[in-house]
This record gives sequence, C-alpha cells and structure tokens, in this order.
Amino acid sequence: MQTFLYFNVPATGHVNPSLGIIAALTAGGARVVCCNGEEYRAKLEAVGAEFVPYPISPAIQRLAMLQHEGNIPQNATLLLEIAAELLAFCLEQIERVKPDGVIFDSLAGWGRWAAQKAGVPAAAFITTLVLTPASLPPMPLKVMAKNLWLFARHTPDYLAARRKLAQVGVRGAGYVEALTNLSPTCNVVFTSQAFQPGGDRFNAAYHFIGASVGARADRLDFTPDPARPLVYVSLGTLNNRDVAFYRACFEALGDLPVQVVMSIGRDTDPAALGAVPENTLVRPFVAQLEVLKHARMFITHGGMNSVHEGLLSGVPLVVVPQQLEQSAVAKRVEQLGAGIALLHKPTTAAMLRSAVERVLSDATYATRAGELGQGLREAGGAEKAAHALLAWAAKGV
Ligand code: UDP
Repeated sequence: MQTFLYFNVPATGHVNPSLGIIAALTAGGARVVCCNGEEYRAKLEAVGAEFVPYPISPAIQRLAMLQHEGNIPQNATLLLEIAAELLAFCLEQIERVKPDGVIFDSLAGWGRWAAQKAGVPAAAFITTLVLTPASLPPMPLKVMAKNLWLFARHTPDYLAARRKLAQVGVRGAGYVEALTNLSPTCNVVFTSQAFQPGGDRFNAAYHFIGASVGARADRLDFTPDPARPLVYVSLGTLNNRDVAFYRACFEALGDLPVQVVMSIGRDTDPAALGAVPENTLVRPFVAQLEVLKHARMFITHGGMNSVHEGLLSGVPLVVVPQQLEQSAVAKRVEQLGAGIALLHKPTTAAMLRSAVERVLSDATYATRAGELGQGLREAGGAEKAAHALLAWAAKGV
C-alpha cells in the first residue's frame, strides 16, 4: 500500500478537481493524507482521505479574503508568507506520515520545499494551464501599467516575505516559484494535451488528464426559451464584482434576439446594475452545468473550470479574463478556434457585441468547442492520474 501526503491550497477550484483522483487512489487501497483548511475536511474525508488541518496561518486567512482582488504581486507575496508559516508543519507531517510521495498544488510551494528538505519525491497537481512564457499573451499596455504599479507597491512586502522564507531555510524563491511550482519527475495537469499551449513539447513527467467535472445536483430555476439562443454570462466565483462589465453586457445584448442568463456572484449588489433588459435574467448563482446544456454561447472570465465545462458542452466562448492565467486560457481558446478573447480593458459594449455576433454567426466556433470537449473527456481523467502517481511513487525517484 502506498502513502501520499498532499498539500493543497484552500480554494474550491483546486480542491474539487482533485477529489476524483483521491477517490481512485483510496479505492485502490492507497493511503492519502490531505492537508488543507478545515472547511475542506468533509469533502476530502468523503473520498477516503485522512484529513489534517493546516495550523492557523495569518497569511492563509488573508489570502482567502484577498484572492477576490486578482492582485498578482499581493497574492504571490502571501503565498511566500504562507510557505514560511507552514514549512515546519509540513516537515512534521512528512516525518509523521512517512509518505512514499508528497503531492503539492502548483501554488503550494510549502509542500514542494518541505519535500525537498526531507528528501522525499514530490509530484505537482496543476489545475490551470502549465504557465510558460509561450502560453501568456502579450499584455495590453493598460494592464501592464496597472501591474507594474502593483508590483512596485508590493515590493517591500514581497522582500519581507522572501526574508521570512530564507529564515526557515528556503532561499531564492521569487514570484515565479510562488505562482507555479512544478516537479521534475511527476506533474498531473488538469487539461488535455491539445488544450495546453505547446502540449506536445512536454516530457514524460507531465500527465495531461483532461477535465475533472463531478456530477452536481443543482437544477435550473428558469425555463429556457426555445425560440431564442441562450447566451450565458459569468465571471466565476472570485473576481466577479465588475459592475461596469455587467452593464456593458446589458448594452451589448439587451436588444439582440437572444435570451441572456447572467450569474453575477453572491457579492455583487443587483441594485447597483441599474435597469435590467427584458431579455436578461440576473442571478447570484446558477446551476452552471445545466445552463450550459441549453447555451448557444458562454461569455466567461476564463476560469479553467468554466472553460472546460463550456467546451464539454460544446459551447463556444467569449473570454474576458480577470487574471493573468485566465489571459493565457483566453488566448488559447481563440488560437484553437473555440471562441474569442477580449484582452483589452475595460471591456466595452461594442467589443462584446461584435464578439457575440461573430460567434453566433459562425458555426465553426461551436464545432471546435465540441471537438476540444471530446478531447477533454477522452484524456484519461482521474484513473489515468492515479495510475501515473502509483507508478511514479513505486519508482521512488
Ligand atoms: N459556478 C456555478 N454557478 C455559477 C458560477 C459558477 O456553478 O453561477 C461554478 C462553475 O460551474 C465552476 C466554478 O463555479 O465549476 C467556477 O470555477 P472557475 O475555475 O471557472 O472560476 P473561479 O470561480 O475559480 O474564478
């Protein structure tokens, strides 16, 4: 029986895709010990994992509050601080559990560095694209200016976080290591090789397992109109408070012969949106997988789960990224012909309308979306990941 010790980040988008793999490992007799925030205990124990909560880490608590802001240097700095705060705990767990292999999320550098210190093999779970310079689109000037300013403002905190990390024996870690930790020997990537930019150039240490979407019990709370194509709009669950964007959607879509369903998130005040067009339904949250079964197009922020879910339903995408890795996803969707990327900020009604009209009038976008969805379905999923992990741990590299 093999034992894995898994250090993840407390974020639903990183926990949910891993559940199928943990279930496959534990069903086969492996022991999987998962470290995460207490709020994930029930989900992880339900798939057969042993759960160990992270100790109270002030930086993790701030990360949970601040990740809504999509501020790259701030989030990266917090990840380095968390690493400094959790490293000793991770080393204790390695000593206690004596795993055959450590698994770390690509954002959880603390797991990687603890494994390195303890001399235990470590594998990475990557729930987004593997970010390489080639996968990122050129940054529009306005976005670059905003980011340069943010990086400058966060430099003192960033340097302080690096010092804290150096005090616990991890030197030289920077922004790149905070945001993308990879393993030299085993990386499980939660997309298909076709969707990953340059997917055919990765070596045997990378396992592309496709989309990991579990069944959900949610139901539609409206009736789709068979006479009008349904356009679904969502910025996901984190960076979803952009009132100006929702208003631009009203202006772009309000007089088109479509039915619009817009999920604005639980933290956006519907009253702030002003008058809602007759053809638009606004909700704090919808049964997304169900909505996508009826949708003709999905205007999305480019979160990996949303994009995969759209493609699995064969729905073409207009991608309006809110974060760096979502820009890479947007660019890839456009390159592969499954939709259009709107990278320039702010997103205007004119940009949205032109993209929506192009996608509605050209059936090849939907065809490509369907083909990519099929590829995601056939990539091997949790079983392939479990198999790769067991073979890797057995080698003990
Ligand atoms: N989601 C949903 N209903 C909504 C909005 C989002 O069910 O109204 C789900 C969606 O199906 C996806 C997840 O929330 O599984 C969002 O994850 P994603 O990676 O796309 O974006 P994030 O919220 O992490 O930015």
